[in-house]
Amino acid sequence: MRPLLMDMTRDELGALLEGLPKYRLDQLYSFVIQGSEYNDMTSLPKSLLSTLSEEYDATGVSILEVRTAPDGTEKYLFTLRDGNIIEGVLMTYKYGRTICVSTQVGCRMNCAFCASGIDGRVRDLTAGEILGQITEVNRRHGGGVKDKRFITNVVLMGSGEPLDNYDNVVKFLGLVRDGIGISLRNISLSTSGLVPNIYRLADEIGGVTLTISLHAPLDEIRDKIMPVNKAYPILDLIKATKYYAQKTGRRVIFEYVMLKGVNDTRECAIALAGLLKGLPAHVNLINLNYVEEKKLLPCSKKQTYEFMALLEKLGVSVTVRRSLGSEVAGACGQLRRSVLRGETDE
Ligand code: SF4
Repeated sequence: MRPLLMDMTRDELGALLEGLPKYRLDQLYSFVIQGSEYNDMTSLPKSLLSTLSEEYDATGVSILEVRTAPDGTEKYLFTLRDGNIIEGVLMTYKYGRTICVSTQVGCRMNCAFCASGIDGRVRDLTAGEILGQITEVNRRHGGGVKDKRFITNVVLMGSGEPLDNYDNVVKFLGLVRDGIGISLRNISLSTSGLVPNIYRLADEIGGVTLTISLHAPLDEIRDKIMPVNKAYPILDLIKATKYYAQKTGRRVIFEYVMLKGVNDTRECAIALAGLLKGLPAHVNLINLNYVEEKKLLPCSKKQTYEFMALLEKLGVSVTVRRSLGSEVAGACGQLRRSVLRGETDE
């Protein structure tokens, strides 16, 4: 595939316009960062657009389908230039509008409760393809950049393991901060626990909220539901997380999907509280969105709230995450899979 203008920083775009006045770069950058196609760039000379379009595509993502849940959550399917499909979710909270974006087509981490890993990783997304999901949704809602943006927060929690696509994700972080104006503080990156890249992220970037998909506090359970744990066991992961928290001064979020009969015991709550002692952390308990291909069962509301109460008693900061959009296949990978299988609403 040809490179994208959207993959480039302002300086990289500048190098393409050598010899032209600076205002041309201002114009081009402003078009690119808003997700414009060549035929929208009407104030640029036709000769320049024709030269650029010989080598580069402007954008690489377009909206294929939007499903809206009764709570207003919008689930997006995007197509990429090679025909691959990825998904994203737009959630509205009191404090703003958060988009959850994908970082890979598929995922190779194969977590037991997730639909995205079922077919493995197909390919990494480029920085511009991650950014394109934001610009498409932003534009659809009439948003621009900086103080005119519609999207206020970003979570890298769609399909893919962001730290398995490290360089593109780091480049994306720079593009979204400098171009659209979303500060790193308003971006959360969720990882299943690729320990070496947690250290790199702390040393090279910092700033973003780190979210750990923990889901079990004991290796014998986590090994079964998250294969990544065999390479990077829990104590190594917690050590890296402490390093991140110390280096960045930021609280770390731990995601914990409640799996009936698997990770919902008193022993698990005690082990979890022990792990998080001394770490500035918050735990999000999540209700499992049932994935047909996986045989795991959700906990009842009562079990989840009992588990939460026990954690609170043990001194853990914890909430049950509001489950948005499950009516439109809200869990990562579910909508994409239902479309690939040819299911429709009818
Ligand atoms: S939960 Fe995240 S890391 Fe695990 S398979 Fe799904 S997308 Fe990949």
